[in-house]
Amino acid sequence: MAQMYDAIIIGSGPAGLTAALYLGRAGQKCVVLEKDFVGGYTAKISHIENYPGYETINGMDLTQIMAKQAEKFGATIIYPVEVVDMELTGELKRVRTRDEVYEGHVVIIAIGVARKKLEVPGAKEFLGKGVSYCATCDGNFFKGRKVAVVGSDNEAAEEALHLADLAEKVTVVPHKELDIVSAVMARLKSKPNVEILPPAKIHAVVGDELVTGLKISRDGTEAVLGLEGVFIAMGSTPISQLILKAGGLTDDRGCLIVDKHQRMNLDGVFAAGDCTCGGMQIVAAAGEGSVAGMRAASYVRKIKAKAEGK
Ligand SMILES: Cc1cc2nc3c(=O)[nH]c(=O)nc-3n(C[C@H](O)[C@H](O)[C@H](O)COP(=O)(O)OP(=O)(O)OC[C@H]3O[C@@H](n4cnc5c(N)ncnc54)[C@H](O)[C@@H]3O)c2cc1C
Repeated sequence: MAQMYDAIIIGSGPAGLTAALYLGRAGQKCVVLEKDFVGGYTAKISHIENYPGYETINGMDLTQIMAKQAEKFGATIIYPVEVVDMELTGELKRVRTRDEVYEGHVVIIAIGVARKKLEVPGAKEFLGKGVSYCATCDGNFFKGRKVAVVGSDNEAAEEALHLADLAEKVTVVPHKELDIVSAVMARLKSKPNVEILPPAKIHAVVGDELVTGLKISRDGTEAVLGLEGVFIAMGSTPISQLILKAGGLTDDRGCLIVDKHQRMNLDGVFAAGDCTCGGMQIVAAAGEGSVAGMRAASYVRKIKAKAEGK
């Protein structure tokens, strides 16, 4: 049997948790459905220096506070449950995970963006056998071992910083020119067990049962780096399939289209955070989440008043 809520929020990053806080404070019963861990990408950031109110804060701590705050006002957070299908066109919205159906008057989509995949031989085959897309999730398996981080920007740097405290050696292998902000680069350079290579072409992840190396080339010279873990951090791409299937509109980049009240093209459906390709920052995601939460609460009030014949 379907579980009924006033509002269903998909994604528990800063956008989803802030929307839940506003809906909860407005007295609406809401559920947050999260496929991985609470906090979204922000929970993986070690050092945040640009979220107003905190000179510096760890991302996990910040999102735990956000989650507690939302729960204090009645929001239910359920994880790990992946939303696999949505019916968004009718007055009553239906959201399906693998095991449950949730119904609500409004849906807020706050699913962030997806990590770009490394498309070389071995990357898919060794996934979970040495290849990972999440240092926070899998870093502990590589304590005292040699690992590489494939990527060129702040995301790769954050992964390397996390791994530097666990692994014997971390080699950063940029797949294009480095683009890391200076404060993060300074922290990376302060780690004696981190080596940053010049940009290279990645050819394959090699191994037997488990990963044993990463095949790369530079200026026509091939090399195999001997290591046991390959962490991929090559940037992000919007998640549009689930949304398009449900009738939601995206632009040509796959970003969800919203108006200034975070409303999508479907009545009672809102979107907030990185999935709209707005500010791509925590404060921007929280800001969009607050607008979506307020507007969704007002939409629910109208639906309820109509049902009561007011
Ligand atoms: C390396 C790096 C460093 C960064 N550093 C900073 C920084 O210092 N300061 C700053 O302001 N910003 C920073 N950012 C950006 C910041 O992380 C994002 O802007 C912010 O996390 C966006 O929040 P969000 O809620 O929109 O999405 P996310 O935090 O990505 O959360 C989306 C959530 O939705 C979930 N989800 C997705 N699909 C489904 C589904 N089908 N079912 C259920 N759940 C689903 C995901 O698992 C995820 O938990 C950084 C980003 C990166 C990559």
